[in-house]
Amino acid sequence: MKITQHISEAKDTLFSFELLPPLKGENIHQINQTVEALLEFNPAFVDVTYHREEYVYQEVQSGLLQKRTVRKRPGTVGICAAISHKYNLDTVPHIICGGFSKEETENALIDLDFVGVENVLVLRGDPIRSEGRFKGEADGHSYAIDLLNQVADMNQGRYLDVNLKNTNCTQFCIGVAGYPEKHFEAPNMASDLRWLKRKVEDGAEYIITQMFFDNQAYFNFVKNCRKSGIDIPIFPGLKPLTTKGQLTSLAQNFHVNLPDELVEQVEKAKSKEDVRAIGLEWCIEQARELKAANVPGLHFYTMGRAQPTAKIAREIF
Ligand code: FAD
Repeated sequence: MKITQHISEAKDTLFSFELLPPLKGENIHQINQTVEALLEFNPAFVDVTYHREEYVYQEVQSGLLQKRTVRKRPGTVGICAAISHKYNLDTVPHIICGGFSKEETENALIDLDFVGVENVLVLRGDPIRSEGRFKGEADGHSYAIDLLNQVADMNQGRYLDVNLKNTNCTQFCIGVAGYPEKHFEAPNMASDLRWLKRKVEDGAEYIITQMFFDNQAYFNFVKNCRKSGIDIPIFPGLKPLTTKGQLTSLAQNFHVNLPDELVEQVEKAKSKEDVRAIGLEWCIEQARELKAANVPGLHFYTMGRAQPTAKIAREIF
């Protein structure tokens, strides 16, 4: 079922979560365990992230370094098919520009259509870890909006080969990312919202936000979206802080601001258990307030660990 249908049929706030594919060489059991730990909360959908290739440098005999390309977490199409068939759940694969030619994207979308996936979240993708700056493929896309237009074209039966006749129209419901604290590369919020609005005009049907720790950032973002004419549902993305190290790693990796009150509480905590309890309580309070404000759903970033999300969901749903 499409995310938009879940929203229109919902009687209450929806619950959804994001999964990371296993590292190459691991099996699917850990994914199954994560899903099973959260099934009791009746998830409307499960997102599966995509991780682009990385470069590793290995010393060769001459003492020189040889650059190798590795993809550590492949398998999005397979995971989506496996989860949706095993648990009868709707999955949302993340489709990214980085590392893909348009042809490869088209082939991945054809596979997703064949296995019955009806939803995609279209993204530009992160830069290659060692590069710092995003670079699209010469025959690929540089921005999420261009990728979105490729999906929208396939929904109209337009494939890359214009000579194809009687083509199948895919039926993908398209989601995009939103940033309550602005995308880190955008010169300002107004500019970021202009591009977001373009994605909505070109066919985006809902938005999932980057994680945030101050609900006011989300409320302001929604208000500014509505003022700009962005009228589609906006799912808040939540992540419980679970370690002291995340005070800096979340800020660094996701470009989010952590409120002073949370930082102070975590810095004063005496043990790892205390930090976890503070992070959970903070996220529970965020979720309570957001649910009371009638958000369409609460979307949790599990980062491969179901238990913190399960504890929060038990309090909220
Ligand atoms: P875009 O919409 O392309 O925007 C990127 C920047 O360019 C923004 O600053 C925007 O304002 C600007 N911009 C947009 N369009 C244009 C244009 N046409 N011309 C000029 N400027 C433009 N990353 C992954 O690698 N894998 C994942 O699975 C993944 N999942 C995510 C899920 C969510 C919910 C979120 C919020 C992020 C996720 N990311 C993921 C990270 C995301 O890919 C990065 O934040 C990336 O830097 C931007 O992606 P985007 O789709 O928002 O990009």
